[in-house]
Amino acid sequence: MNKYTKITASIGPKCEDRATLTRMISAGVNVCRLNFSHDTGDVQGRKIDMIREISAELNTPVAVMIDLQGPKHRIGNFATEDKYPLTIGQKFTFDSDATPGDSTRVQLPDSDVLGSLKAGDRVLLNDGKIEMRVDCVSPNKVETTVVRGTEIWSRRGFNLPDTEIATSVLTPKDRTDLEYAITKNPDLVAISFVQKPEDVAEVRDFITARTSHPIKIVAKIERPNAVERITDIAAAADAIMIARGDLAVEVPFEEVPAISRHIIRECRKMNKPVIVATQMLGSMVSSEFPTRAEITDVANAAYLRADSTMTSEETTIGINPVNAIETMYKILAYADADAIANPYDWSRVENIPENDWSRSVASMAYLNKASAIVVFARDTIATTQISCRKPDIPVIAVCNESAIANQLCLARGVFPIFDNQLFGQRDAFNAARRFHINIGKLVIVDEDKISLRTLD
Ligand code: PEP
Repeated sequence: MNKYTKITASIGPKCEDRATLTRMISAGVNVCRLNFSHDTGDVQGRKIDMIREISAELNTPVAVMIDLQGPKHRIGNFATEDKYPLTIGQKFTFDSDATPGDSTRVQLPDSDVLGSLKAGDRVLLNDGKIEMRVDCVSPNKVETTVVRGTEIWSRRGFNLPDTEIATSVLTPKDRTDLEYAITKNPDLVAISFVQKPEDVAEVRDFITARTSHPIKIVAKIERPNAVERITDIAAAADAIMIARGDLAVEVPFEEVPAISRHIIRECRKMNKPVIVATQMLGSMVSSEFPTRAEITDVANAAYLRADSTMTSEETTIGINPVNAIETMYKILAYADADAIANPYDWSRVENIPENDWSRSVASMAYLNKASAIVVFARDTIATTQISCRKPDIPVIAVCNESAIANQLCLARGVFPIFDNQLFGQRDAFNAARRFHINIGKLVIVDEDKISLRTLD
């Protein structure tokens, strides 16, 4: 119980065999992320089944998060696979013509995008290595000037940081993927390129029209317009992911730490878990050791009391995914312990009202030097809210549904137990003992009853 910050691990080719995945979950993975930008359908379905089996074998709740590709845009094809030269200051045209491209033009296959661009907007290609500025738009054609970049080639992805794209957050591919994923009862669905709270509502409607299974929605924040509306989006979603990969292309990269800090604080106020994602241990794709900067980045997420850090390529294509998780675990466990040894009163820091019930729970635990808070969790809401007060002692969530236990895997400092035979005060003691908490006081939360008991 010495790690409070959770680990979300992306699952890919280097870690989707049973032995590696078992070792990763044993090493501290709380949430498995399946990225539907890569595999889809039954290939992902088999991974979900395997995660459920390993979770049962290890008697450890693990959340399954499916991550939809979303409207990730790409330019069309060029005549050959060669790289085509660009010169700064030259004109370059995007149009709807499927004829292969050259150094002066290429097709933009998505008509919604072509129709959304306006003069002055930036078009950033290939992770921002190429920048073009829109000069003028006409039906089926957008003319730009090259501001940065020396070459362009087929199917490059692009970002439009200045453009509100008038398109559904669910592409036809996402709809097919989600339709399938829903049949596998995932715990969390992450949506890419969210722009507004209505995008979250659209996905929630899609899901609730098809299942009564309580699937939580994670909104990925990777666009400037989503950063601007973070409070509304956090209110609409169940959790947030700071998707720093695309975010660092869409906003000036030096703003990413400040934006991340702001999002973490907003999520805490809104009682929503938050995941810090992308390149946390990036060098471990090809190295057994993290850089000093990466160690500090992971630790800082814990110091800011994020709910979870995330691995991407470190575990999907890295040389040693288990080592990446063990490394992340060590850094988080140390930072969490240090943060707890030098605590802040987060309720005061975040201006949570004195009479807020979850603040009272955290204060009661703090003033009585409680060993743990035990919550009888009939849904995720009360436990998540207590976790957001950062009580810095374990929050043991006794859940009578496995989906609730899995979903609480994401919340910082929450240790879920799925057992529908546990109820009432004495069972709170049994729950604490499962985590080797045998002495001290417990704050027990059972619906609207909050009590303090000494372990006997
Ligand atoms: C990101 O951009 O940081 C991210 C997590 O999204 P994806 O890996 O789907 O591009």
